[in-house]
Formats: sequence, structure tokens, C-alpha cells
Amino acid sequence: LCVEHPLGEGQQVALTREQAHYLFGVMRLGPGDVVGLFNGCDGEWRATVEDAGKRGGLLACQAQSGPQVMPPDLWLMFAPVKKAQTQFIVEKAVEMGARRILPVLTAFTNSERLRVDKQQAHALEAAEQCGATHVPEVAEPQRLDRLLADWQGRRILFADESAVGGAVSLSGLEPGPWAVLIGPEGGFSEAERSRLRGMDCTTAISLGPRILRAETAAVAALTLWQQAVGD
Ligand code: SAM
Repeated sequence: LCVEHPLGEGQQVALTREQAHYLFGVMRLGPGDVVGLFNGCDGEWRATVEDAGKRGGLLACQAQSGPQVMPPDLWLMFAPVKKAQTQFIVEKAVEMGARRILPVLTAFTNSERLRVDKQQAHALEAAEQCGATHVPEVAEPQRLDRLLADWQGRRILFADESAVGGAVSLSGLEPGPWAVLIGPEGGFSEAERSRLRGMDCTTAISLGPRILRAETAAVAALTLWQQAVGD
């Protein structure tokens, strides 16, 4: 469970109404039961339920059960798609170890409305589910052209559908900060593609012989990056 309290031996953690509902209503836990906690900086802790109520509850930290692990310095930048597919992308990005999720508005982005608070909640659930100790930030959407105008340092792994059919093999990628970039259903415009390909920090890649849906492409590109660079 992700909490906002500091975690340490003997530390008591008061639960919100939603957390109490989840632990005691959904998971059917009660006094004496053990819960795993993290807060994004103190690692993983084992805590026991001291008090279980309908609107709240109290946990007591017992012992640290794992270190704080930060995912590699990898961003996923993707053009928002439909709600369910965007949620899928956010969840899979967390599971695949992205540190930051940045929706980008491109020339052919057709779903510009995105509830960042809802997607942040999905990221939190995904982190809890996959045993991460860090919840990636879901950033406010930004226009790709403006973002690239001020771009500094971070390398970009650009999934370019015009490279479809090319060899899917990544080797010799430098370690360091990276961003994987996935386009919308309509793909990138010619202007975006040539701008991206003209940037020194960009590596354009093929994801194989077929055109993948954006959500499949996100998982495939993150997997390739993890295999080539990640840890
Ligand atoms: N409408 C575009 C077309 O027909 O060429 C396809 C866009 S695809 C559904 C969405 C995004 O997934 C693309 O912008 C690209 O980033 C990525 N993608 C999908 N298949 C790919 C492939 N085979 N190679 C590289 N990128 C791919």
C-alpha cells in the first residue's frame, strides 16, 4: 500500500477512508494482519493493523522488508489515445519501469482530453500491484513541438512507424536518461518525423514488420529499451 507518511520502526500510519475501505472492506483484513507499505522514499515496510474502522484505521510499522528502488531514468512520452487504452499504457509503463509518464500532444493526436488525476491514480494502483516502491509521475500533457523546442540532454527512442519492416534490434545505446516516444493512432506528421530525425539525441527505431497499436507499441518499445539499456 502506498502511503504519504514517513516509514520507520514503531511509526504509526493513519489510513484514509479509501485505504481503510480497500484493506478492511475489499481485502477483509483486520487487527493483527500484516500489510506491506511504501511511500516512495523509505523502502518497503511490514506493518500490522492496530485499528480497523469503516472510515479509517491505524497501522504500526514493524520492520523494513525491502530497500527503496528507483526505476531507471526513463520517461514514456506518448500521444493520448482513447481512455481505456491510455489507462493501459499508464499501467504498463509503471510495470515496465518508467520513472515518468508524459502525455504529448502531436499534430494528429485525436484524444486531447485526459484526466491526469485519474491516470495518476492508475499509476499508483499499478505500482502497488507490481511491488514497486516508487510511483511514477503522470505529467500534464504538453505539446510535442514546444517540448522539442526546449529539449536538452535526454536521449529519445523514437518509435517511427515509417521504419516499419526494419530490423528490430537495439544495441549500442548509451546509458543515461532516455525518453521513449510513441505516436497517436494517426502516426506522426512528416514535419514531426523530420524534426525528430534531425535531432542529435534521437534514435529512430522500427518495432517490426507490422503497424502496432499505440498501446502495443509502448510496451514493445519499453521492453526493447529495458533489454538494451535498462536495469
Ligand atoms: N497510422 C499510422 C500508420 O498507419 O502508419 C500508425 C500509427 S501506430 C497505430 C501508433 C504509433 O505506434 C506510431 O506513431 C509509432 O510510434 C508506433 N508504432 C506502431 N507500429 C510501429 C512499428 N512497426 N515501428 C515503429 N513504431 C511503430
